[in-house]
Amino acid sequence: MQTIGVLTSGGDSPGMNAAIRAVVRSGIFKGCRVMGVKRGYDGLINGQLEEMNLSSVADIIHRGGTMLRTARSEEFITEEGRQKALNVLKVFNVDGMVVIGGDGSFRGAQKLSELGIPTIGVPGTIDNDLEYTDYTIGFDTAVNTVVDAISKIRDTSTSHGRANIIEVMGRHCGDIALYAGLAGGAESIIIPEVGLDMEQVCRKLIKGRNRGKLHSLIILAEGVGGAIELGKEIEEKTGMETRATILGHLQRGGSPTAFDRILASKMGATAVELLLENKGNQVVGVKGNKTFSMDIEEALSLKKQLHEDIYKLTDILSI
Ligand code: ADP
Repeated sequence: MQTIGVLTSGGDSPGMNAAIRAVVRSGIFKGCRVMGVKRGYDGLINGQLEEMNLSSVADIIHRGGTMLRTARSEEFITEEGRQKALNVLKVFNVDGMVVIGGDGSFRGAQKLSELGIPTIGVPGTIDNDLEYTDYTIGFDTAVNTVVDAISKIRDTSTSHGRANIIEVMGRHCGDIALYAGLAGGAESIIIPEVGLDMEQVCRKLIKGRNRGKLHSLIILAEGVGGAIELGKEIEEKTGMETRATILGHLQRGGSPTAFDRILASKMGATAVELLLENKGNQVVGVKGNKTFSMDIEEALSLKKQLHEDIYKLTDILSI
């Protein structure tokens, strides 16, 4: 292994830069040449590769987004597109790749490995929707962003005695809603894994109001439905004035938390180590604070499970 390529792909997440920095710096430390690929698999197909040095990744550990930029590439899903990418990798003498992204990007990493380029996946997504790993890079930052928003909405919710619904990201996974809901002291958390129990949400609101609670916060994961419609329904059913806030893409940006920077640094360095051990077709994960690797197919075949303990605890603490 002499030349390692690195790219970020799919949805961005805070901490991707820290992961790129870890790949570049630990790769150079181990005597490798590191090539940065711009704009994900699209950049690979179009030959947007540049050699990285120690300074290329200076001053990025604290920045959100990705300095390599990201893209979704339709062309890479085709065999011809991947063949073009392979030719580019041959021209630039790239021996192995690190792909930082979500499950879709890992499918691409698997395809690159099949084409003879050992490729390691590093999980960069705010959704935390990958079962094989405890955490993905960006999740902790997104949760902190949501908790910050909850605190602000709580202030105004209390002043007016209103109910507030906060819609958060996560696609089909409720982890952002769950963790931010617990940390933010939400009354109800509505996630796709459990579904919406309208009666229960309304019962809690009324119970809270009757015992003099001034604020009511409901966290809604985007995978269940829209906050505006739900707000109208709750207002009709309970007679409580209800406001909806959709946090949207602000959850994808911002300076990564220390947790995400550390996770990204460890995972990026582990990916390089794996390539230097001539391993490919693997993803890096973290369990019990230790990084490990697993076959991509095996990792993606694991169905994401609800963190039931957290869900139950939130319910108990919001009585
Ligand atoms: P994420 O990585 O965040 O889940 P996507 O699902 O959009 O994001 O995937 C990112 C990119 O990965 C896609 O645009 C495509 O280029 C590549 N990709 C996804 N699925 C496949 C696949 N089955 N084969 C090859 N490449 C894929």
